[in-house]
Amino acid sequence: MICQACEAKTQTPLCSHCTNTVRDILDEMPRMLGYLDDTRYGHTRLADPGTRHTRNGTGLNVNPPAARLARDTHLVLANWARTLCRVHNWRYQRPPQKRPQRNNSGFQAYQPNPASSIALWLAQRTDKLALLPDAGDAHRDITWLADRIEKTINRPDPPIHLGPCPAIGPAGRCMAALTARPGQVIAACHTCGAKHAVRELAAEHLRRTQHLQLTAAQILGALELAGEPLSERTWRRWRQYHIRPRAWRHDGEPLYRVGDVYEHRKRQPV
Ligand SMILES: [Zn+2]
Ligand SMILES: [Zn+2]
Repeated sequence: MICQACEAKTQTPLCSHCTNTVRDILDEMPRMLGYLDDTRYGHTRLADPGTRHTRNGTGLNVNPPAARLARDTHLVLANWARTLCRVHNWRYQRPPQKRPQRNNSGFQAYQPNPASSIALWLAQRTDKLALLPDAGDAHRDITWLADRIEKTINRPDPPIHLGPCPAIGPAGRCMAALTARPGQVIAACHTCGAKHAVRELAAEHLRRTQHLQLTAAQILGALELAGEPLSERTWRRWRQYHIRPRAWRHDGEPLYRVGDVYEHRKRQPV
């Protein structure tokens, strides 16, 4: 049998690589929907993800395409959850909803998108999703959603390298350079069009590039993409007391060695 999404040889309708891609997207979906809500309601997320600048505390949509996309995401994910429940004769148990929070300025924050909890429910059942006879459609739907959300939300941060594109085509491995911005989940290759889960590539790339010297912001972004985030505060403390720059860029920006960060982290009590 060949994978319905990438045509690799496999025993199941979706190969393990494509199944992992779907799981990674679903796991990250709540965070992506958070960014989408910010776009939708006109909030701006500053560098610190905990801070929200409220220009619009009214809960009114200021970005109709983002609102439509949030609705589409809910519909598409609910549809796959329903399909799984039908096939397995499950009852869909809605996970408990968090109560709306108040932010510092006293505004009622918006309701979390209900698609978030469905995404997490599906993420825990991706193996079952991959066995559906139309699993290729699920892969297409879910990567399509992630792609559209990526294009709708704007990320101010500079792109981070993910290494060469691992997709295999008729001429062998693609090898085009891939990049992603902090928080991005799916990276589409500009050369071959393959879509990859960012976390897997970023983690693999970091493991292979321990010798690289990067700026403080690049290290923080790369760790976040790789799913091994470091808080800005901790990173500042490490730079102050534990990790020295290995070199300086021509504009005076200090460069830190990736391996130094990993080694220091290993020494931390868990
Ligand atoms: Zn595949
Ligand atoms: Zn490629």
